[in-house]
This record gives sequence, C-alpha cells and structure tokens, in this order.
Amino acid sequence: EQLLKWADSIRHAAARPVMVRANADNEADATHARHLGAEGVGLCRTEHMFLAEDRLPLVRRFILTNDPREEEESLAALEVAQQRDFEGILTAMDGLPVTVRLLDPPLHEFLPDLERLTTAEARGELDASGKHELAAVRRLHEVNPMIGTRGVRLGVVRPGLYQMQVRALCKAVEAVTAAGRTAHVEVMIPLVVDPTEMHAAHSWVEDAVSSLRLPEGSLSVGTMIETPRAALLAGELATVADFFSFGTNDLTQLTYAFSRDDVGSKLLPAYIRDGLLPIDPFERLDQAGVGRLVSLACTDARKVKPELKIGVCGEHAGDPVSVEFLVHNEVDYVSCSPYRVPIARLAAAQALLRAGKVSAEVLNAITSDAAQKQGAPTERTSADATTTQGSFTPHAESDIEFLLLHSLRIKGFASAEVIAEVVHMDIVVALETLPQLADAGLAKFFEARGLWQPTPEGKAKHAELLPHYSNEILQGLRQHYDDFLALNEEFKELCASWQTRDGAVNDHSDASYDADRISALEDFHQRAAAVHAGFTSALPRFATYPHRLSVSLAKLQAGDPKQFTGVMCSSYHDVWMELHEDLVQLLGVDRHAEGSY
Ligand code: PEP
Ligand code: MG
Repeated sequence: EQLLKWADSIRHAAARPVMVRANADNEADATHARHLGAEGVGLCRTEHMFLAEDRLPLVRRFILTNDPREEEESLAALEVAQQRDFEGILTAMDGLPVTVRLLDPPLHEFLPDLERLTTAEARGELDASGKHELAAVRRLHEVNPMIGTRGVRLGVVRPGLYQMQVRALCKAVEAVTAAGRTAHVEVMIPLVVDPTEMHAAHSWVEDAVSSLRLPEGSLSVGTMIETPRAALLAGELATVADFFSFGTNDLTQLTYAFSRDDVGSKLLPAYIRDGLLPIDPFERLDQAGVGRLVSLACTDARKVKPELKIGVCGEHAGDPVSVEFLVHNEVDYVSCSPYRVPIARLAAAQALLRAGKVSAEVLNAITSDAAQKQGAPTERTSADATTTQGSFTPHAESDIEFLLLHSLRIKGFASAEVIAEVVHMDIVVALETLPQLADAGLAKFFEARGLWQPTPEGKAKHAELLPHYSNEILQGLRQHYDDFLALNEEFKELCASWQTRDGAVNDHSDASYDADRISALEDFHQRAAAVHAGFTSALPRFATYPHRLSVSLAKLQAGDPKQFTGVMCSSYHDVWMELHEDLVQLLGVDRHAEGSY
C-alpha cells in the first residue's frame, strides 16, 4: 500500500499526470476497483447489463419486433433497468469519471444460437415463436460479425437504441446528483471509423438529453480508437470528440487481421513456438505495428487539440511493458480490469520515473518519507541511499560522471534503472545526472523507448576518464582475472549446452535435460563465488554482479527459460557479459588478443 501511494504521488505530480481507471460493468466491480485504487471507470461495457437474466427477454423482444409500439415498450423497460445499473456504478465512483460505452456487439449475440435453432427446426421442435426467432437469427447472421454490424453501426441501423442508453445514463446522473453525489460521465462511441459517425452520435446524444436537466459539464462524448482507420483519421476525429480511448484489443485484432476469438488457441501458440511472434500481441501491445498507430493517433490528435483527454481501455492497459509504451505516448489514463489496477499504478509510475519525467522535488519528498518510515535519517540525499543490496558508497561528482559513462559504454543502450544497477549506483543519482550528461552532449535519451545511449563524444570522454581507479584496485582485479577467464570458457560451453541439444536447437521439450543444465549452472554459480568475492574486495561496486546473477538464476529456477541465455533481459548471460566487459574496459584487455568474444 505504501509503495503504491508513492507510485500514485509520482503519477499525479507528473507534468501530464497518468491516471489509472478500471474496466467495470456493475456496482460490485466498481466498488472493488475503487478499493484497489482505481481513479474512475474507463470502460463500462453496457452489453454485459443486457445479458443479465432479467434483461435478455427484453433485449430479444426489441431485436425481434417489427412493431414500433412493441419496440418502444421494450426500450422503455430496458431504460429503467439500465438506469438502475448506472446509478450503482456512479454511486460507487462518486466524484470520479465514468466512461460508458454504448452497445458494441452484434445483435445476434443476444439471440439463441443458429445451429441449435436449425437443429430444433429439423426435428420439428420449434413453435411459432421459435420459428420467429430463427427467422431473425438468419436475418441477422453475418459471416464476419466482428467486422459487421456492431459498434456505432448499431446506432445507425437501430435508431432509438443509443438514445435509450444515453437517456438511462442521464437519468442516473440526475438521480445520484439529487442524492448528493457527484457524477462525471463520458459517453463513448465504439468502433468508429469516420468523423461523420461522431456527428451522428452527437445528434443522438443531444436528442436524448434535450428533455433532461443535467448539471453543467457532467457529460462529454468521445470515441474509441479501435480501428486502424480511426487511428489514421485521429486528427479529424479530435475535432468532433471530447476524448479518445484506445480499444487496443480491437485495434490489435484489426491491424493484424487476427480474429481474437480464434487465434488464441490455435495460431498464436504455433507462431510463438516457431519464433514468428515474440509474444501474444493481445497480451502485450505490439509496439512496431499497433503501437505505431497509437503514436500517430496521439500526435495527430494533440496537434489539433492539445488538451484532448486520451485513455486506453484494452487489456494492454494492465500490462507493465505496454503501460510504459503508452506513458511515453503521453496518454492521460489507462483502464484495466480491477485486479490489474495496482500493477498499472506501479507500472505507470515506474515508466514516468524511467523517462526522467519526475522532478527532483517529488523524488526527494518520497525518498525522505521512505527514510522516515524506515526510522532512517529524514533527509535522504543522493549520497546516503540504501537498497536491498546494501548501502551505496557516496560518489564524488567526478565518480558519478565516470560511472554513468562507464555503464553506458558497457550497456550501449539501456534504461536509467539498468544503467544505475550495472555500476551499483542509486537510481536517484542516475536520474539526476543523466540529463546533465545529455546537456553536455555525452549521452542521448530516446524518449519513445525510455532508453539512454552514449554519444561518440560520450565514448571519447569515457576513454579519457578511464584511468580512473588506483593501481592497487586494478591490481586487485587483475589478480582474479585468469580464474575468471577459465570460468568464462566453462560458461560459454554451458550456454551452448542450453541452446542446443544433440546437435540441434534446444526446443526445451525435454524437461529433464533442461533441469540438468540448470543444475549445472547452479553448480557453476557456486564455484564462481570465490572469484566474485576477489573482485568485490578489490572494488566494492562489483558486488552488484553476483547479486544480479543470483536474481537471474532464481528467475530461471522459477521457470523463466530466457533467464539463462536471453538477450537484453538481464539474463545470467547478459549480466556475465557485462561483468566481462567491465573488466575488459578497466584492465585495458585486448579482446582480440585474448580471443574472448
Ligand atoms: C477493445 O477493443 O480494446 C475494447 C476495450 O473493447 P472490447 O474488448 O469490448 O471489444
Ligand atoms: Mg473493442
């Protein structure tokens, strides 16, 4: 809880704060989400209200009828039910924004299954109303319903439907306001592909609210960006929308042309197994393709309307890596399922921190609060920070500059957090100093990826500063270098035996083989301890290496196979290579002569 409160302070204090909302469709979920720290509802899927047992007959009556009076009656009954549901959610989210998405799924989803009805008909088991249903199901049947009559298209083909939902919502606003609560509702239009649809949606909303008295500013109308065309037309859509919310589930589905109902169990496992995809793009936002559309839409929309509120309500909003990307694109909020809210709170704060978007003042306030809570000195300065690895040694300014350049030289391209970790430096210090290196032209920050890189001038400066440690320290390191090289040879063989099995690529299908290799690495890790101890006694910051190697080993033992030889994931191999590079740089080793690549 305390950690999340600090994360919240970071999110709220950022120049463009990042809020975390929840996707919730009923009062219970909304209440639960608020307890978990949700700062509003970013997506209320109203179809879930329609599917409730007492609503379904009303929905079916509305879908099946050709009689305008019956249609009106069923809508009126649905309106009463929806109003009750909305009141519950608005009460739970008193004072916080609630985004209500108008009906999205194709209507046939509310009707009985075509196959079941056809079979019943063939058996002669259908009565008159069953036959009526079957005719409607056949009429509404679509070959590709996911790209058929759904989303805003329903508002066009079934006039009155969206108006009813907006009326129910507005009446709920009136009711909760009268009960002393504060409601901020955002009406969200799904599956938009063109600004003309938003014009139509505005007219439906106006139509619905014309007879009601809503508190000033309590209702806004926005669009989901969940089709590639909407993303491409974001600049135009921004002129007719009060807010955007990226529906990254549909945006992923439509960008890849991967039907999300079908590919999960069959196609994606094969793609991932054969290395055609690194990960399920419905779980982690594909930054190269879908993410590009997100970035483009954010930039184009903000050119037209800088203050436009932009959120994300697809599943990716609860995935830390995706959240980092979204925060870099300056979204105003992410909205995920209630249980993922705490993760999103932390991930958004970490992303802001890594991107250097948190002022030193805020960091100092948090770190001194942390120190007080630990009973430590109240004023935490960059020099007296502590971590789970023990105290950081206070660094002189020249040390800090050298160590950061040294870390950048070792890593090449890394986040501030990793740069600090490699040289066992306090992240606060690294975050304070890296921008200064950038100002001096020694490092470059890639904002979109949150990564730092040394410039050619930075590399030259590093070479200039390299004779940094005393002869005594270098002697101490050199003393253990031959033992390290022997271990290095052994480690390379171990890695090869992890990556291949019987001369072929190790596909990790033989659990006992993998377990044997992991146990060989455990043995290696223990035997390497003496060399690490030698290095650490010569230069204390080298303590970071055995610590980080133990972390990778623990993750590997816990079942993450990438932690053996994976690249750029702080695997055992990554950390070992960094250790080697650190030594090569400090001792001036000629890798070519040494033959150690
Ligand atoms: C989306 O498409 O990302 C979204 C939130 O809508 P749904 O998952 O309900 O289609
Ligand atoms: Mg969607």
